[in-house]
Amino acid sequence: MKNSRRQFMILSAAGACTLALNGTVQAQAMVAETDPQASALGYKADASKVDKAKFPKYAAGQKCDNCALYQGKAGSAAGGCSLFAGKQVAGPGWCSAYAKKA
Ligand code: SF4
Repeated sequence: MKNSRRQFMILSAAGACTLALNGTVQAQAMVAETDPQASALGYKADASKVDKAKFPKYAAGQKCDNCALYQGKAGSAAGGCSLFAGKQVAGPGWCSAYAKKA
């Protein structure tokens, strides 16, 4: 009886830690368009708003969720990007470092 209570307490604590960690991952900040690095790369959270005069290499259909540097799943609202460690970019976003996923 005593042992099972202890096990319950340990498992509960482990569960709470897991939940806390998951919360941290989900709460990862989004890259702001005004972030100096994002701004230098012409990052937009909505690819349709890319300044096409300034970034003529942009082509319709290019977006973060089909970029080789995107770490989220295709079609996801947001995910990591190798260029912005610790932050998330918008799945429908775009920046001038875009490289089509193979
Ligand atoms: S490198 Fe790719 S995934 Fe990262 S912000 Fe630019 S377009 Fe989006």
